Amino acid sequence: MEELALYGGPKVKTTPFSTGKRFGEPELEQVRQALEQNTLFYWFGSKVKEFNKKFADMYGVPYCVAASSGTAAIHVALGACGVTEGDEVITSPITDMGSVIGILYQNAVPIFADVDPNTYNITPESIEERITDKTKAILVVHLAGNPADMDAIMEIAKKHNIKVIEDCAQAYLTYYKGRLCGTIGDVGCFSLNDFKHISAGDGGMLIMKDEELYKIAFRFADKNYNRMGKTTEEIRSIEHIAPNYRMSELVGAVGIAQLDRLDFICGTRNRWGEMLSDGIKDLPGVTPHLVREGNKSSYWFYMYRVDPKTLKVDLQTYVDALRAEGLPAQKGYIHAPVYAYGLFQNKTAYLGTHAPFDSHYYGREVSYPKGLCPVAEQVLDEAIKFTFTEFYSEQDMKDIIAIITKVTNYFTKG
Ligand SMILES: *Cc1c(COP(=O)(O)O)cnc(C)c1O
Repeated sequence: MEELALYGGPKVKTTPFSTGKRFGEPELEQVRQALEQNTLFYWFGSKVKEFNKKFADMYGVPYCVAASSGTAAIHVALGACGVTEGDEVITSPITDMGSVIGILYQNAVPIFADVDPNTYNITPESIEERITDKTKAILVVHLAGNPADMDAIMEIAKKHNIKVIEDCAQAYLTYYKGRLCGTIGDVGCFSLNDFKHISAGDGGMLIMKDEELYKIAFRFADKNYNRMGKTTEEIRSIEHIAPNYRMSELVGAVGIAQLDRLDFICGTRNRWGEMLSDGIKDLPGVTPHLVREGNKSSYWFYMYRVDPKTLKVDLQTYVDALRAEGLPAQKGYIHAPVYAYGLFQNKTAYLGTHAPFDSHYYGREVSYPKGLCPVAEQVLDEAIKFTFTEFYSEQDMKDIIAIITKVTNYFTKG
């Protein structure tokens, strides 16, 4: 067997991974047009409106609201769904802070459901266990572009009369049984931050089918102003608080051009991800990133597991060996489940108080001990994560498979 690069042997990957340009003439042209409007305010200009329309059409839904980030989009969705102090929102412990920020800003309490060991998405069983009379919404994260089990989740929501918000920040053009993720729940939320499939620097989008929900969300993203009103009095008919999460015309302009790239980006990532899973699935102890039958992932990242009992070294050495061969892999995704963060351990969402955890509207004890979501904890300890992009060549993907094959075989043979 060939010696590992980690121990002085030859490296598998001898060429750099292919890269490409994410922005070009179409973005420049859109931005130029935006500037020529002589306004960058979404309500006066046409770029954000056009972006909304194009986004909604792409997803086949009637309504779309633009926001300043994915975090903002999720906050708007929660606000529009009426999430408030005293409520609980069930979400995933393996996610970005952007999933829980809006929950806390609405003074609601995040409740974490456990995940599937191989899709890494929250399971219907775990959600059901966590439902209480305080549960107002389920915020489903389609982690890494891989759909969660939506049929069962929608059924639970229907049974308990609660809302479902889909966090699609990592899940553009992700399909669940032939349906686009983001169109299945009450609201779908997307991110345009620079690390996502498409980027406008920062930005967020919400899609929905219900007109009433749309009207509330539209206002909630813009200080609760009623822009559609005719008089100042109508416009400023304010009954509730809402943040300013407006998208500027510059962001909308870039977004319009970026949408044209999504088919290529998600299509290629899907192809590379499936090729990768196919290439590593028979290796000893390896479980590829599981995408269930009939679903389609857009692979924002790739995360697989090796059974620690099959592996004859500790996981860190295994990861070091992958890296030495030329694959920048890492252990886990985030270092710990979200509930392990100091914010939840010390209940210090806000400086100087324990709100919303000790709210009298809530009136319950909540705690976030180790073991709360044992599968999530294990996944983050045992999974191996890396990314690939739509610019990678087929040879790049073959090299990744060769690296995983070499290192896994090396450390699993006796
Ligand atoms: C990126 C991300 C967010 C937040 O999006 P921002 O645009 O960075 O605010 C929320 N949820 C998930 C799952 C994400 O990956």
